[in-house]
Amino acid sequence: MRIDLHSHTTASDGALSPMELCERAATRGVEFLSITDHDTCSAYQQLSTQESLPVQLIPGIEFSSYWRNTGIHILGLNVNIDSTILKNAIDHQKTARVLRAEQISTRLERHGIENSLPQVKLIAGGTYIGRPHFAQYLVDIGRVKNIKDAFKKYLGPGKPGDVKENWAPMETIVDWIRGAGGMAVLAHPAKYRLTWTKLRALLDDFSAVGGQGMEVISGQQQPDLTRRLGQLSLQKGLFASCGSDFHRPEEPWSDIGKIADLPTECLPVWRDWDLN
Ligand code: AMP
Ligand code: MN
Ligand code: MN
Ligand code: MN
Repeated sequence: MRIDLHSHTTASDGALSPMELCERAATRGVEFLSITDHDTCSAYQQLSTQESLPVQLIPGIEFSSYWRNTGIHILGLNVNIDSTILKNAIDHQKTARVLRAEQISTRLERHGIENSLPQVKLIAGGTYIGRPHFAQYLVDIGRVKNIKDAFKKYLGPGKPGDVKENWAPMETIVDWIRGAGGMAVLAHPAKYRLTWTKLRALLDDFSAVGGQGMEVISGQQQPDLTRRLGQLSLQKGLFASCGSDFHRPEEPWSDIGKIADLPTECLPVWRDWDLN
């Protein structure tokens, strides 16, 4: 069974439309796909008019949140997208995102980058604004060499554009996901640059508020990391998930469906799902 439980479309910061993503996934042998756009499920609305799809969808979302001083992402997998709880959650995060964009713009002014918001909105081309759009703007005006540099200097952890406090806190996000019938899964635990001690503390806190799983595989990663994360999931009593975190075809390290199998001892998040 080929399953990819983390991917993005043009509904957030991905490059492919929802249908293009489904087609690419099917071509690469994916049978079960979760589209997990940042703080939105609108890809599913877009796909709902299709008569048939080349993959089976597992409704999902990637929520932005924070733990202590670190921005974190929490996947809601197998959620009921018609749930009022989920709709209200998305509304909350949407407002937070708009507010955050204004705050990022204001903070960038202090670094001599004036009035970025109108241009960033043009780049975003819709109501969804993310840090990648700010990154593109900083590249466009010649402030930085490339997107990576934009995150390193202006948008990444500890930098002016690292504004987290508008997002709902971790426990609220977990409540929303579970309230919408889904499973709350900590996304890409190795990407937060936490020490293993801090990561264990995060997982303890995440479990304590009702978090149920963690990604053991996120895109292409070293087998040693997979092993360690797999062990951690078992130690913490968390289900294990796997996803490419696909955003665009030009990033071959996270192409859709290009993921290793979970370690056999792990408990897959889909253990109790009715997949057929
Ligand atoms: P946002 O949801 O607006 O906070 O933006 C976060 C997104 O920015 C992530 O999901 C990635 O797609 C992207 N991103 C984060 N860090 C980097 C980086 N160092 N280089 C390129 N893209 C990044
Ligand atoms: Mn992204
Ligand atoms: Mn993420
Ligand atoms: Mn993602």
